[in-house]
Amino acid sequence: MAGIVVVFDFDKTIIDCDSDNWVIDELGFTDLFNKLLPTMPWNSVMDTIMKEIHAQGKTIDDIVEVLKRTPIHPRIVPAVKSAHALGCELRIVSDANMFFIETILQHLALKEYFSEITSNPGFVNEEGRLRIFPYHDFAKCSHGCSLNLCPPNMCKGVIMERIQASLEGKKKIIYLGDGIGDFCPTLKLGKSDYMMPRKNFPVWDLICRNPMLIEAEIHEWSDGEDLERILLQLINMVSVDPRFISVDCKLQTFSASNLTLPKPLPVRQ
Ligand SMILES: [Mg+2]
Ligand SMILES: [Zn+2]
Repeated sequence: MAGIVVVFDFDKTIIDCDSDNWVIDELGFTDLFNKLLPTMPWNSVMDTIMKEIHAQGKTIDDIVEVLKRTPIHPRIVPAVKSAHALGCELRIVSDANMFFIETILQHLALKEYFSEITSNPGFVNEEGRLRIFPYHDFAKCSHGCSLNLCPPNMCKGVIMERIQASLEGKKKIIYLGDGIGDFCPTLKLGKSDYMMPRKNFPVWDLICRNPMLIEAEIHEWSDGEDLERILLQLINMVSVDPRFISVDCKLQTFSASNLTLPKPLPVRQ
C-alpha cells in the first residue's frame, strides 16, 4: 500500500458540473430551484424539488437517465483507476447525495474503487420519489463547526477529523476539491498532507487569501488532465519517500528525481 488516502470532493472535482444543478436544469426545474433557494438551505431545496419532480410525473428512471449523461472529463476515470492501482485508498466526501453519486459511479463502473462515500442520504421511497436528507440533522443538532463557510447540513472538516482519527499508522492525505465547503477540511490537513484545489474556484481563492491558515502543501489543477498528472505525480513522489518504504515492500522502479512535479503554490511566506 502507498500509505496514502485520497479524499475527493465529487461535484466539479470528479464530475465536471454540480450534480444537483445538472439534474434540475436538465429536467426543467431551474426556475423553481431559484425561487426556493433564498427560503431554505440548499439540501432542503433538493428534497422539495424532488417532491415536485415526482408530482409532475417524472420517474426515478428519468433522473437516472439524466445522471448517466453527467459531464465528466475523459481523464478522470483513468486517474481514479491509476491512483487505486498505485495502492491508494480512495474516498469521497460530498455535499451532493448518495443516490446521485452512486448512480453516476455505477454508470462509470467506478464505485468499487472507493472504500467510503460520505454524503447526504438519498434514497427512493415507497412512492418512487427520491428523498434527500441532510448528513448532519441540523434540525436536531448543529455539526458544531464555527466556520461560517460550512452549510448547516454538512461540515466536511468534521468528517475529515473523523477520517483522520480512523487512519492507522502514518498515512498521508491528498484532498481534492473546488468549493467553499472544501476549505474547512483543508484547515484540518497537516504538514505532511496535500491539498489539490481547483484553480480559480472558490476553495482556491480562500486558500490564496488565507495562506497562514494552511499547513498542507498546495498543488492547484485546472481540468481532468491536470488532475490526473498532478495526482499521480504526487502519489509516486510520496510513495518513494523512504519513510514509507518498509522492509518487505517491493521497491517501485520509478525514481523521485524523474518526477517533474510543479512547485507547490507559494502560500506559506
Ligand atoms: Mg465540489
Ligand atoms: Zn466546518
